[in-house]
Amino acid sequence: MKLKYSNKINKIRTVALALVFAGMIIMYIGLLFKSYEWVMVLFMFLGLIAIVLSTIIYFWIGMLSTKAVQVVCPECGKPTKVLGRVDACMFCQQPLTLDPNLEGEDFDEKYNSKKYWKEQQKKSNEQ
Ligand SMILES: [Zn+2]
Repeated sequence: MKLKYSNKINKIRTVALALVFAGMIIMYIGLLFKSYEWVMVLFMFLGLIAIVLSTIIYFWIGMLSTKAVQVVCPECGKPTKVLGRVDACMFCQQPLTLDPNLEGEDFDEKYNSKKYWKEQQKKSNEQ
């Protein structure tokens, strides 16, 4: 079970970080066009938009983080955050779920049903 998911919070954070760098690079390119003022202003403006966007995304991550559940990854033993029912470890990409019985499985609605678990238990008792 490798790399079907990657951690949602990490993913968003990577996008935000990429935007900061993109914004800086765009602004830097703008500086190269000093002799064409409107080009420089345009690049500066685009760079600023990218940086403002990343700030908004960082803010959004902060909100998501408060909703995420902190768990210790069974694979690497590090504390990570699970967003939603199924997510991946921030460090080793191990798929994680808030239900320990679902480890290594894709999320499926049937796991919410008590009946399903009773049947599973019966099966394992018979084996
Ligand atoms: Zn891990």
